Amino acid sequence: MPNVDLHCHSHYSDGTLAPAELVRRAHANGVEVLALTDHDHLGGLDEAAEAARVCGIDLISGVEISVSWQDHTIHIVGLSIDPANTALQAGLAQVRLGRDARAQRMADALAAVGLRDALAGALKYCANPALLSRAHFARYIVEQGYARDTRAVFEHYLTPGKPGYVSHVWAELADAVGWILGAGGVPVLAHPARYRLSQRELTTFLDDYKAAGGRGIEVCSGAHDDTDIRRFARVARQYGFLASRASDFHSPGEGAVDLGRAPALPPDLKPVWEHLSRS
Ligand code: AMP
Ligand code: MN
Ligand code: MN
Ligand code: MN
Repeated sequence: MPNVDLHCHSHYSDGTLAPAELVRRAHANGVEVLALTDHDHLGGLDEAAEAARVCGIDLISGVEISVSWQDHTIHIVGLSIDPANTALQAGLAQVRLGRDARAQRMADALAAVGLRDALAGALKYCANPALLSRAHFARYIVEQGYARDTRAVFEHYLTPGKPGYVSHVWAELADAVGWILGAGGVPVLAHPARYRLSQRELTTFLDDYKAAGGRGIEVCSGAHDDTDIRRFARVARQYGFLASRASDFHSPGEGAVDLGRAPALPPDLKPVWEHLSRS
């Protein structure tokens, strides 16, 4: 199997590397097919494509769209989308709109537990102010000595029920899937083991996703252990989903898995990369 990595982030969203640095790191790690999938933003794709031409990596244009389903936040990756598609661009612009107000509410909530100046602090870590993320807050909170690493920040401050978490409404599932399909892309459910869904909720979600036009699922993700991989391989077989392999890399030293280092797909699954068009 080729070394394929179909989900990662540059500093156009909450990654720390420039798109060209990300592509060069992927190439050095032996990646042959790479998708850049920044959150709700397409700004890094041109720069990544240029770097990919230079080093000879096959670059897939991607995006990771934030969706609200019932009271859960779910991420849908779009692969081989046309970045010039105006409906996709307008949809993403709409999804991004609420981020500034959310960031202010997060900073207020953090100030209430004694963590001051978090908005300015998060902005220091953010290369693209249109895409201020919880990950930028997390880096500032580590800097301030409130937690050992960003993972601990999420556990203690930035997840539901914790003092710096504020709820937010993102895109509708059917809209996000529709924008991806309309832009010629393949929708892929990101890191399904990350969501706090009961088995019953997961089934309902997967039915909704499939009905909306969802086609793929990340079986091998940097966020998945072996049990998760076996579980979501079964889901892929049961629903007839194409299977993806993805690091969800954000930054050197953050997260479990570097570019190109997610486990290999179980051999009987249908690899999503065999179904992606190239522009
Ligand atoms: P946002 O879109 O601003 O809500 O931020 C979501 C981002 O925060 C994700 O894409 C991850 O990069 C990061 N994140 C979310 N949950 C965790 C976690 N438990 N540990 C580490 N990073 C996380
Ligand atoms: Mn992220
Ligand atoms: Mn995600
Ligand atoms: Mn991601």
